[in-house]
Amino acid sequence: MSDHAATNSACIMIVEDEPKLAALLADYLHVGGYQTSIIANGLDAIPAIKKSVPDLVLLDLMLPGKNGIDICRELRSFSHVPVIMVTAKVEEIDRLLGLQIGADDYICKPFSPREVVARVQAILRRAGYASDKPMPPAGLLMDESKHEATLNGQTLDLTPVEFRLLKTLCDNEGRVLSRDQLMNKVYPDYRVVTDRTVDTHIKNLRRKLDHASPDRELIHSIYGLGYRFEK
Ligand code: CA
Repeated sequence: MSDHAATNSACIMIVEDEPKLAALLADYLHVGGYQTSIIANGLDAIPAIKKSVPDLVLLDLMLPGKNGIDICRELRSFSHVPVIMVTAKVEEIDRLLGLQIGADDYICKPFSPREVVARVQAILRRAGYASDKPMPPAGLLMDESKHEATLNGQTLDLTPVEFRLLKTLCDNEGRVLSRDQLMNKVYPDYRVVTDRTVDTHIKNLRRKLDHASPDRELIHSIYGLGYRFEK
C-alpha cells in the first residue's frame, strides 16, 4: 500500500465491453493520476485480476462471457479489492444490494466520467490510499498569459484563433454572439473572413471541447443569430 500512496499510481481495472466507454473512463482516470487496464470479456476478468492484482475494479454488470454478479462473487472468494459495479438501470442497484454480492459502490449509466473518478478516489481514500493529485478542476479554466485552456482538468490543444474564440464566448457567457461580433474579437486586424470560416473554427473547437466534456455541450448554435456559450 505504501508504494501506491507514494506514487499515487493505483491501478484501476476497467471491465467493460463497450470500447468507447472503456477508453473514456481510462482517459479520465489517467487525468486523475491512475493507471488503468481494460478487460472487455467477462471470462477474462477473474484471471486478469488474479494476475495483475488491481487496486480497484470498475465492473460492468452486463458482459459477454460472464456477468458482473458472477465475477464479483467469485472475486470475493479470494480478494477484498474494492469493486464499483456499473449498471445500465437504476432499478438494478436495489436488486444488487439485495443480493449482497460484495460490491463497494454502484454507479448507473449514463454517468459522468468525473463522477466515476470522484467515486474511485473516495473508495481508495477509504481503503487507505493517499492521493497527491487533487481532483481535476471542474469546468473551463483559461489562462490568457500562457494561452492555455483546460476543461475538467484536460488541457485543450487550441490554435491561437480557437483560443481567442473560446475566450470571447466564455467572457460573454449566456449571450448570443453573431458571427461578425466573434470575428471582430478573434481577428482584431479586421481581416475579412466569411461566415463559413467562423463555423469551421467553431466546429473544430466543439470537437476539442467535446473530447474533454462529452456529457455536456458548451457552445450552442442559435439559428440565424450566432453562437452562445453556456457552462
Ligand atoms: Ca456491458
